[in-house]
Amino acid sequence: MHAPVSANEAAASDATERQLLLAAARRIADGFGALGLSERLDAIRNIIPGRVVFTTSFGIEDQAITHAIFADDLDIEVVTLDTGRLFPETHDVWAETERRYRRRIHGLAPHHGEVEALIARQGINGFHASVEARHRCCFVRKVEPLGRALADASGWITGLRAEQSSERSTTAYAAFDDERDLVKVNPLLDWSRARVVDYVARHGIPYNALHDRGFLSIGCAPCTRAVKAGEPERAGRWWWEQEARKECGLHNDNGDGHPATLAPVAVG
Ligand code: SF4
Repeated sequence: MHAPVSANEAAASDATERQLLLAAARRIADGFGALGLSERLDAIRNIIPGRVVFTTSFGIEDQAITHAIFADDLDIEVVTLDTGRLFPETHDVWAETERRYRRRIHGLAPHHGEVEALIARQGINGFHASVEARHRCCFVRKVEPLGRALADASGWITGLRAEQSSERSTTAYAAFDDERDLVKVNPLLDWSRARVVDYVARHGIPYNALHDRGFLSIGCAPCTRAVKAGEPERAGRWWWEQEARKECGLHNDNGDGHPATLAPVAVG
């Protein structure tokens, strides 16, 4: 039988784990520059101990990462947040991806009681009424399920790219996320959209049909529109809002709570 762990011992163990993860973030970021996508994912898996989760929304960046994980059979969980308001095309590419790689992608749904309470409070499309109402919907349908997806994880991989918005341009390759107690890694941070598109074409990776209809960034159906030529990539997300910052709460900290590098990356 194990002796009970004192509060001091537990605090010391937490501090050690945090130091380990901070060091892991630093190692990943320092070595990333010269590596290809597969090597970056390999490095993430080798350096971060414990559970590593990749959250996909089936956008083109996420499809590139999913391909690299499945093709190399890496021990990285691929999960998605099925908000209940996704486009049919997104479900189509989800199914096609599972067929292509013969792997199941774990979908997390929001708690039905919270969705019912949300709809009772602000209506089925209440997110149009205010930024606060929209954030409430994003919280119930995305942020809370994300918390469950990342519970006990040591690493979280995302498809963020610096080029996607001014907020994301200051994101780090890897950082210790204080709020979630894990290393958040953005292995496509320095990739241009053209480079991602080329990678997906070269490997014959399935992608969301909406990308061919002017949708550059794809989220929930009622909150995403196609963008016009010259508009920023994320202009089609919550387009009715005047706020410059267009995030759903998943990446509020920009992933740079404790950045492993402060140098801006060169996108290419
Ligand atoms: S993107 Fe729109 S529908 Fe989806 S969770 Fe946010 S507010 Fe709700």
